[in-house]
Amino acid sequence: MVCGNEGTDGAETNACVIQPFEGFPESDIQYLERRLKEDYTGAVEVRKAIPLPKSAFYPPRSRYRADTLLAFLKRRVADGERLIGLAHRDMSYAQDSMKPDFGIMGMSTMPSKACIISSRRVYKNGVKQDHLYKVELHKLGHVRGLRHCAEKTCYLRDANGGNTLHEETGFCAPCKKSMNVAGWRFPQVVSFTDLRY
Ligand SMILES: [Zn+2]
Ligand SMILES: [Zn+2]
Repeated sequence: MVCGNEGTDGAETNACVIQPFEGFPESDIQYLERRLKEDYTGAVEVRKAIPLPKSAFYPPRSRYRADTLLAFLKRRVADGERLIGLAHRDMSYAQDSMKPDFGIMGMSTMPSKACIISSRRVYKNGVKQDHLYKVELHKLGHVRGLRHCAEKTCYLRDANGGNTLHEETGFCAPCKKSMNVAGWRFPQVVSFTDLRY
């Protein structure tokens, strides 16, 4: 087990564990690891890729069920860890077993110890690694216990099934404050006026 470092409020931060599923591109893993290490004060660890469990495959849509994958990942999280699963295959979820499932970019419960994201829908119109990281931060916000945010530019915005990643520029001030207490180091905006005549 990896022990976390001290957070900004003196509380112990959890270790962030990246768990890729086989087939997830190495360049994307490295990108997400680098961004996490820049933004997070706790330990960041990348685990060896594991096969996607066959039990999660949903043949009618040729997708993987996100809830099954998340339950699978939750069994692999130790105390003091928060785990991020990475899949390159399309994922879906059905809120009601009588209704058809729908495709999603990621899934988490709140608060929790694990989340999962898929690059498939994020990369639908081209590879955008920063958008993938935004989805990851959104999910980690839920893992932290934060709900959706009304601020349109906030990473915790509810996309309502759409893709609003291009409009999201960062966590808003209250969301950022809560994340930073949990060991993140998102800079607070300092108001500054520069005049030059
Ligand atoms: Zn959400
Ligand atoms: Zn917010």
